[in-house]
Amino acid sequence: MDFCHRSARWLVLALIMLCSGCAANSITGRSQLMLVSEDAAVKGAVSAYSNMMGQYSKKDQVETGTPRAARVKEITNRLVAEAVRFRPDSSGWHWEVQVINDPKVVNAFCMAGGKMGIYTGFWEKLKASDDEIANVMGHEIGHALASHTREKMSVAMTVGVGSALLAVALAGRNSNNSSAYPAAQNTVAVAAALAITLPNSRDAETEADQIGIELAARAGFDPRAAVTLWEKMAKQGGTPPEFLSTHPAPENRAQRLQALVTQVDPLYQRAKNKTAGPLPDFIGQPSNEYVVGSTTREEYTARVSAEPEVMTFMAAEFERFRKGEVILTCSYECALGYGFQRGNWKSLHGKKQWRELAVAVVKTGYLNDLSYFLLGEAAMGLGFRDVAKIYYTRALDARNADRSCEGAFNTCEEFDIPQRIAAALGRPGAAAAQKQ
Ligand SMILES: [Zn+2]
Repeated sequence: MDFCHRSARWLVLALIMLCSGCAANSITGRSQLMLVSEDAAVKGAVSAYSNMMGQYSKKDQVETGTPRAARVKEITNRLVAEAVRFRPDSSGWHWEVQVINDPKVVNAFCMAGGKMGIYTGFWEKLKASDDEIANVMGHEIGHALASHTREKMSVAMTVGVGSALLAVALAGRNSNNSSAYPAAQNTVAVAAALAITLPNSRDAETEADQIGIELAARAGFDPRAAVTLWEKMAKQGGTPPEFLSTHPAPENRAQRLQALVTQVDPLYQRAKNKTAGPLPDFIGQPSNEYVVGSTTREEYTARVSAEPEVMTFMAAEFERFRKGEVILTCSYECALGYGFQRGNWKSLHGKKQWRELAVAVVKTGYLNDLSYFLLGEAAMGLGFRDVAKIYYTRALDARNADRSCEGAFNTCEEFDIPQRIAAALGRPGAAAAQKQ
């Protein structure tokens, strides 16, 4: 399994002693090196973004009040309205988008916490359509949702900046009161600024492609535009934009995008043929005045995130889970991944992010009672009671077969598994029977 950013893999063993430096991403299930907390990453990005926009603003390069700027805001708002379906916490981000007037530059970005920018080269040089803009912004939003900037900041801090800054970063990471660590905040801001200049890994690009094309399709933008945009951009010379970075041969990517188009086209057709209700305004207002009609961000997010939808590229794992077909077999090679991930599973459980929990457990594949128990909990949480029974039973079987999380170096994340299974299945005697 791919359990950490490749260039930081050497660091992983050292990190076991220091902290749980990896966390499974709640959108993709992939484990990432995460030394920088979400909160610190967002604050760092906010500061890097405001510096950047301040400089563009001085040069009068921030485009406001044009039809183009208004359209970009509308497009990104529709994308964010789909993003919160899969990452409900992102509805609380201070999403912002600016059009940067530099007709020679074809580039776009989305930092941690939803701070976005797009350069006017997209219109001036590429004559990009709204569908194409939606696909490029979807791709960039995909990077933010999958915490790729945070991952890059973590890598920047460890690989490039050295152990002194790592210590500062860890202080920032463990601090709830970040103002007590101004140095850490500055370091994070520098890492945030640096992170947008670093290329993403190929895994990250693949994830952003998958997430982006799906957000666009669900928001009613033609996924085919990802392919046409790609072709237009590939013809451009000069510095490659983010969207073109770190990829294998261009033909491969065009083919992969084409395959994704086939997968998400039904979502696009569905979105095109239904009239969307009024969406709350997610972009650019920092207080709680987002009421459009009668739907607030919070109400809207609670409604859509409760709908039984799963991202297409997670659908295979999720379907196996939903049918009760998951059989875990991995004992050794995923033990380390399991060690890193189980704390994150506990937090997904606490936040009732059942789909993400199920997919993360399935992707890790580690055979023990805790894994099966959590699949049972996820099934129960989603209302699949019969499926939950299957996984709870497998958890008890694993336990009886000596695959228990209760070991000398192990922990069950404070779950009393037999007792909780007995309670969930409504058989009060089962816990006692298990212990014999
Ligand atoms: Zn990218």
